[in-house]
Amino acid sequence: MTLPSPLKGVKLLFAHDTEIALASAAALVNSGRDGTEQLAGVADLDAFVALWGWTGSRTRDRAELDAVRDLRTRLRAVWESDEDGAVEIVNALLREGSALPQLVRHDGWDYHVHATSSEAPLADRIAVDDAMAFFDVIRNTQLDRLPVCAGEDCSDVLVDLSKNHSRRFCDRGCGNRANVAAYRARRRS
Ligand SMILES: [Zn+2]
Ligand SMILES: [Zn+2]
Repeated sequence: MTLPSPLKGVKLLFAHDTEIALASAAALVNSGRDGTEQLAGVADLDAFVALWGWTGSRTRDRAELDAVRDLRTRLRAVWESDEDGAVEIVNALLREGSALPQLVRHDGWDYHVHATSSEAPLADRIAVDDAMAFFDVIRNTQLDRLPVCAGEDCSDVLVDLSKNHSRRFCDRGCGNRANVAAYRARRRS
């Protein structure tokens, strides 16, 4: 006998706020790719904050910018770690940020999780929010949804929410380049 499941039909892979947090975490990691700094100044951080809808307090100074940039190394490590390694990072981020999950509703967003106070430093809020998203991913044994681009010489991190779980390349042309290279290799042989 199978028990009736309360989960029927098609569902999202993750909660909406988790998916946004994952995309935002990937964008933050990729902002420092290959030594080309896309968060060069406070204005760039302002744009990032606006694009991803971060609310809460800001200091808009160099220290805030540096703290957000420094976070990227630890976030990237989640993409590059095995499950145990990722768990270690996520637990540390939650601990250090004194995460206390609360359901909140604001600015037109329906209930979602905030696990830090809106007065906490921006980098701490990003760290905890991203860690909460990774938490969901790992708890659902979906860490392979966070691949690094398979393109040659590309280190972009990806979030694969595709139905058939097929995303291997970033959207900066690596997939096309790989196709062309494979085509040429076939022609040569
Ligand atoms: Zn919010
Ligand atoms: Zn790529």
